[in-house]
Amino acid sequence: RDDPLATSTAPFLSIRGLVKRFGSFTALDTVDLDVARGEFVCFLGPSGCGKTTLLRAIAGLERQNAGSITLAGRDVSEAPPSERDFGIVFQSYALFPNLTIADNIGYGLVNRRQPKAQIAARVAELLALVGLPEQGLKYPVQLSGGQQQRVALARALATVPSLLLLDEPLSALDARVRMRLRDEIRGIQRQLGVTTIMVTHDQEEALTMADRIVVMNQGVIEQIGTPFEIYSHPATAFVADFVGHMTFLDAIVTGPGKVKVGELELDVAHCQDYRPGTAVRLAMRPEDVRTRSIDAATPNRFEARVGRLAFLGAFCRAELAPLASPGIPISADFSTNAMRDLEIAAGQTRFVAFPPESLRVFPREDR
Ligand code: ATP
Repeated sequence: RDDPLATSTAPFLSIRGLVKRFGSFTALDTVDLDVARGEFVCFLGPSGCGKTTLLRAIAGLERQNAGSITLAGRDVSEAPPSERDFGIVFQSYALFPNLTIADNIGYGLVNRRQPKAQIAARVAELLALVGLPEQGLKYPVQLSGGQQQRVALARALATVPSLLLLDEPLSALDARVRMRLRDEIRGIQRQLGVTTIMVTHDQEEALTMADRIVVMNQGVIEQIGTPFEIYSHPATAFVADFVGHMTFLDAIVTGPGKVKVGELELDVAHCQDYRPGTAVRLAMRPEDVRTRSIDAATPNRFEARVGRLAFLGAFCRAELAPLASPGIPISADFSTNAMRDLEIAAGQTRFVAFPPESLRVFPREDR
């Protein structure tokens, strides 16, 4: 907080060449990452990709085999957790069952030998911050899961850490509570300006909460970007597949910005540097398939038969088979209204189109 680099543009947290092995297994493979002061960053990826290991290495709970971690201008690579100035919240609330809520929150302050009255005032402030002003004298079992996680958050913030680490804090909660706590955590984080890293395997959580998302896969970072960048401009097929729904089709490049899928010739806006004849994967999102206002001049227009329709609440997802190449499965989203009004129905034949700017091409071997 009072470090000399505070006003410089140096990243608040800087990770270089971090490697972590468990025996012969490499859990983190040369990870580089910068996090700015006040940022909310999510580590997103499938189970086992190394998210938690990276978070624990930042906390000093896991010792890296190689690489460095700099926090607020200080190399903490070899520092024990107690010297790293972070608060942490785990998936399981991990509260002390035999202590009251107030004592749970004040635990770290008692350890720091602060005066009683000062601790009581700070605990009251934190209880108000997490929306539990009347609950200080209760015990953890008397609170719901969501309330316990608020207490865990208050406890993590008690010592005013400069870094807040959240390890899947919402995944044990039911959907409604999870949604509300997302907003609350983000609100508190903004209010305090505390630099925060959250591990999650839930893409929606990452997209709604993060300033930037770090997408991980098998111990490496696949992409770092804002939620919009990650969703709209996935750097790899893995990111495209993991975030949002994506249909992948095997395609052949036929010329600059042109691919062929089965019998369909398509223009692709994002397709550089492939030689004609290169086998690629064409990726498209179901919501990008254009289903209305299509005429002869619409690029990438083709006729398709509507197969199965899956009702998903706000929209429905149709399986389409192009008449020219019926073996190619394509998913397209229609509004629920279109389904209700029978604008779209199974068995129907209709024109749809792939806007060239919505199509992406990835190398075939990049699976
Ligand atoms: P999840 O969402 O399932 O927690 P994750 O992305 O957080 O996944 P990590 O917990 O970081 O994954 O684990 C990464 C890999 O390292 C996994 O394959 C895991 O089995 C392995 N691993 C983690 N901790 C240890 C350990 N203490 N000993 C051996 N292997 C470990």
